[in-house]
Order: sequence, then C-alpha cells, then structure tokens
Amino acid sequence: MYTVNLELAAFLLSLFCIIFCLSVKRRQYTFPKGMKKIAQNRHFLFILLLLSNMLSAAASVVGAYLTEISFEGIGVLQYIFHAMYFFFHSTLSMTFAFYIINVNGASVGRKPVFFTLFTMPYLLSEILVLTNSFTKLVFYMDPETGYHRGPLILLMYAFGAFYVVMGFVYFFKYKKAIPRVDSVAIGVVIVLAAVGIIIQAVFPNLLFELFFEAIAVLVLMMLLEDKNGQIDAITGSLNRIAFADANMRLMETHKRYKIILLKLSNLDLYTRFFNGREIDAVRVKIANWLSSIFPDNDVYSFGYIDFGIISTNLTQMEISEATSKMLERFGREWESDSVSMNLEALIAVISVPDNVSTMADLEDMLSGGYKSKKAGSRIVPYEEIVDFQQRKTIERSLRRAVEEKRLMVYLQPIHSMECGRTVSAEALVRIDDPELGSISPEIYIPIAEKSGLIRDIGDYVFERVCFLLGSDAVKKSKIEYIELNLSIYQFMHEDMIGRFEDIRNKYGIPVTSINLEITESASTNDAPAVIETIKKLRALGYTFSLDDFGTGYSNLVRLISGDYKNVKIDKSLLWNADNNETARLLLNNLIGIIRGLGYNVIQEGVETKEQLDGVMSAGCSMIQGYYFSRPIPEKDFLEYIQREEESAQ
Ligand code: C2E
Ligand code: CA
Ligand code: CA
Repeated sequence: MYTVNLELAAFLLSLFCIIFCLSVKRRQYTFPKGMKKIAQNRHFLFILLLLSNMLSAAASVVGAYLTEISFEGIGVLQYIFHAMYFFFHSTLSMTFAFYIINVNGASVGRKPVFFTLFTMPYLLSEILVLTNSFTKLVFYMDPETGYHRGPLILLMYAFGAFYVVMGFVYFFKYKKAIPRVDSVAIGVVIVLAAVGIIIQAVFPNLLFELFFEAIAVLVLMMLLEDKNGQIDAITGSLNRIAFADANMRLMETHKRYKIILLKLSNLDLYTRFFNGREIDAVRVKIANWLSSIFPDNDVYSFGYIDFGIISTNLTQMEISEATSKMLERFGREWESDSVSMNLEALIAVISVPDNVSTMADLEDMLSGGYKSKKAGSRIVPYEEIVDFQQRKTIERSLRRAVEEKRLMVYLQPIHSMECGRTVSAEALVRIDDPELGSISPEIYIPIAEKSGLIRDIGDYVFERVCFLLGSDAVKKSKIEYIELNLSIYQFMHEDMIGRFEDIRNKYGIPVTSINLEITESASTNDAPAVIETIKKLRALGYTFSLDDFGTGYSNLVRLISGDYKNVKIDKSLLWNADNNETARLLLNNLIGIIRGLGYNVIQEGVETKEQLDGVMSAGCSMIQGYYFSRPIPEKDFLEYIQREEESAQ
C-alpha cells in the first residue's frame, strides 16, 4: 500500500498542476487542430503532459485498489484499468518528447512526415493496448493469479524508451537554443524521469516512476511554464524577453521564418494630449486585434510603440493578406473610452535569416532601424530598413580605421569680415580609408557615438589641434583659436577632461586657443553629467560655440541661459533663404537678435557671393563656407594662411 500512496501523490500533484495551469489564464486558448498544430502548441502539450501523468496515476491507483477486493466481474474492471494505465503512460512518454522539441524549437517548420514518423511508435503501442484483449500481447489477466506480462511488453517499454531518448537527443542537440534556466529545468526533468524509470525497472514493486514524473512536471511548471516575466503587463501579450527567447530558439535551430513588425509611428503625438490610461486602452485593443488577425501566432508587444508577430507557418500570401488587413484597419480610427485616435502604422516584414540572421542584428534593427521617412501608414520595404546593416559595416570599418590610426584632421577657415582675414578654423575629422573616406561624417559620427568610438576620435582630433596650435606657422599667424566639435556623448564621460588637459599641457597650448563647439539637443544637454562636465570645462577656462543654431532642438531659450563665445547659424537656414522671402526675413532677424544678445555670429555654409552679401548686410561678420574654403588638410591649411598673410603685406 505504501507504494500506491506514491501514485496517489502523483495523481494529486498532477491534478493540482492542471488546475493551476488552467486557472492562470494567460492567453486566449484555442484547441489546436491537427497533429502539427498540437505539436506546436506548447501550452497544450504541457496540459496533455499533466493529464496523461494524472490519468495513468489514477488508473494505477484504482487498479491497485481493485486487487484488494473481489466481486463478480472484477476481472474485467481490473483489465480495463491496467489497459488504461498503459494507454495513458504511452501518451505521457510521447508528449514528453514533443514537449521538449517544442520548447527548444526543434519541431518548428518540420514536414508532416517528421510528425508522422515521430508519432509512429506511439500509435503502434496504442494499437497494441487497444487490441490487447484479443491478442494478449502486452499483458493478460489470470482469474487465479491476476496480472501477467505478455510477450510484447518489452516492446512497449522500448517505445517508451524511444521517446525518452528522443527527448535527450533533441535536448542536447539544441541546448543552445533555449535560455540557461530553461535548459537546467529540462535537464533536471530528464534526470528525474530517468531515475524514476530505473528505480521502477529495478524494483518493480516500488511505484516511483509516476511520482518522479509528477515532480518533474512540477519543476517544468515552476521554471519553464511560469512565464509571468514574459508577459507585457499592459497588453497581456508576450513581451520583449519572450520575443528574444523565441527568436533565439528559432535562430539557433536554423529555422527560416518571418517577423512581422508594427510600429505606431505617431503615438507620441497622442501621448501629449491623452492620459496614459487612454493610450494603454488603445494598445490593448491593438494587441487583441492583432491576435485575431494571427490566431495561430503569438503576438508580442515591446516598448511603447512596437508590436511583433513571429511566423513560422504562414505563407507569403497569408502574410500579405494580413498586412493589407493591418493597413486597412489603421486607415480607420482606434477608439478608447472617450477618445479616438488616427494611428499610423509602419509595417515591416523581416525574413530570417535572409534579412537578419543574428539576435544582435535584430535588436539593432528594432532599436533604430526602421524609421518613417514619410507620414502615413504603410508597409516599409526591407530596403529602407537595411540602414542598420550598412551601419554595422561602417562601424566595423570605423573601428579598424581608429585602431590603425587612419584618422586625419581637416580645417575649414573661418573668415572675419571686419578683419578681412582668417581668424579661426573649424577642425573636422576625416578618415583615410578608401571606403569610409567617401562617407560623410554626418553618417559615421552618430555611429561612432553609439559605439563609443567617438571617444578615441575626439581625443585624436584634440591632439592634432593642439599639435597644430603649437606649430610655428600657426603661432606666427593671426589665428586666434581653433574650433573643435564635441559630441554630447563625450561629455557623458568625465575622464574626457583629464585627457584633454594632459594633451593640452603636453603641447603647452593655452586654453583660450581652443573653442569647443556643441550642438544643443534638449534631452541630452540637460543630463546632469553633461551639465557638470560643461561647468568644469568652463571653470578651467574653456569657451564654447553653439553649433547648428536654428535646427532641431537648439532654440532661443538656450541663448538666454547659455554663455557662448560664438553662435553658429546652421547652413540650412541660409540655404532656405536663397529662394524664400520668409526664410530670408527669419535669417536676417535671427542674426539681429543673436547679435543683440551680445554673441558673435558665425554663418556656416556660405557658398556664393549673394549669400555672403546677404548675411553681411544682416550684421553677420564671421563666415565659414566653401566661398572662402572647403575643409582642407593641415598642410594645405598652413599654406592657406601663409598665402593670406603674404597677400596682406
Ligand atoms: P558641423 O559641425 O556643422 O560642421 C560643418 C559642416 O559643414 C562640415 O561638414 C563642413 O564641411 C560643412 N560645410 C561648411 N561650409 C560649407 C559650405 O559652404 N557648403 C557645404 N555644402 N558644406 C559646408 P563635415 O565635415 O561633413 O562634417 C559634418 C558634421 O560631422 C559636422 O557638422 C559635425 O557635426 C560632425 N563632425 C565632423 N568632425 C567632427 C569631429 O571631429 N568630432 C565630432 N564630434 N563631430 C564632428
Ligand atoms: Ca561644428
Ligand atoms: Ca554646424
């Protein structure tokens, strides 16, 4: 009776797990149709695992109870419960194997023949069980002596063992495809099941097996099936962690699949007017709607504005039908409790591994890849998303160039109209690389910022500028200072100041010979670390120019609170003024305001005589632009100022 208690415990444990699993409602649950769908529905497989464990335990317990009593026809009942035990136990081993190949993604994208072959031993054993009353091949009941093993009982065990071994094999084969915690959980489970089976085989009277298996599924439930950490709290869809997990599984098992991404490109706009509750309500609606469009696929929601669907099963046709439906739906309003929103959706379909093949690339793409170049909902063709891959290549070349010190500094003269000569110059980095040389710093500087390479680039430019300032040619010239671009990312690292000071002292350059150009960007410039660094630099005597004034975030308020040596008006403002009267008025008045506030104005991007005359008459006296000179190598720059001096004499 002692051992039967263990089976009773196994039964209760499984029952408890089933109730728990079904009551913790996670997602809309639909019954999978067809073997393939069953094999790909992890939640269903898990419930089936619990159910078969519970039912075989129940059959075993009742069977054992029946041996204790006797009445008319008891033999038939005993027979039925033994048969039930075999029936459910076979289901248990097969489900176990299916569950493992599902968890690690090994079952995804397999042809139906795989599932047919995989289920074959199971079907055979069930046929044996169901026909056993005639064939007596598995077991038979003797009215006198009770239960006896039949001649093919070992085949039944072999079929069971087949699935345990399959579980093992697929577990090890695709171990890398699942997170560590998950593989530990499965490892524990396999060991538990194996130990249970071995004990049972060695001591047939100790009915440990089902109990151990019940504990095993409990472990699975706690470690693997409890995916609360993978659910987006607001929408109830799976979150980014789950998304990463799923992709990792599929990529590691070399699957071909599609990711459908949806970005709410104008949600930002609504967050300004509506409260969080209303926005959340709409996000829930969208998540639910997506689930209805993709009933067989998981919907992921990550970040505030992105949704994703992973498809291993949909055809190209089905995907384009779905995306058209999405476009159509986003052509209409989304209603929240009290408000309605005209949301714009950017939809993209990514093929793995054709478009992206690593998790890192995918993450990269999500975090910056696809941005809207036009307004309105649309399907973004992959070509527009690939920027990020180009970015990767640039980053690699950039790193190489920085390591091999293939950087150069070019200088662009800054002309003072009052003095009638060059008084300063802006140092601009160039890269001595056949490939990168042709790429604008506008493209690679942001990449350098993201990758941290900007630090080395910044130090290099600083050193070259100090070197140049220390040269006799510059010392003798009328160059007062050199302008140097600093990215806001450099300010985030306080050690920058120490390195700059070391370099400056090494060349004996006075701090007044260097003027630092910064571009205002509302969000970053107010970061405490940035404010602190600027303060320290000012205390050391460094001065600043406000760069790219009139674009993006720079605004007049900055001028009130700032303390700048120069304000550099962005070239786009000047170029707009070329053929637009309003823009011309704006530029002229802007120059007046900035001068009125007591700042020097430098106009960038002056290319023509007309532009020069225009800004001069508005009161701008410092000019930088192709009209005087393009950015030129150090040597050329020295020649340039030499020539200028000679012609002045
Ligand atoms: P920026 O600071 O606004 O630099 C001025 C840009 O305008 C330079 O482009 C310069 O070549 C260009 N420019 C000046 N006058 C004219 C003109 O008359 N016509 C035209 N078409 N262009 C003109 P560049 O060298 O391509 O640099 C682009 C940006 O890259 C810079 O914009 C700056 O933000 C960044 N950058 C360049 N060097 C460095 C550096 O050493 N460190 C950092 N942090 N950023 C840098
Ligand atoms: Ca600049
Ligand atoms: Ca500029």
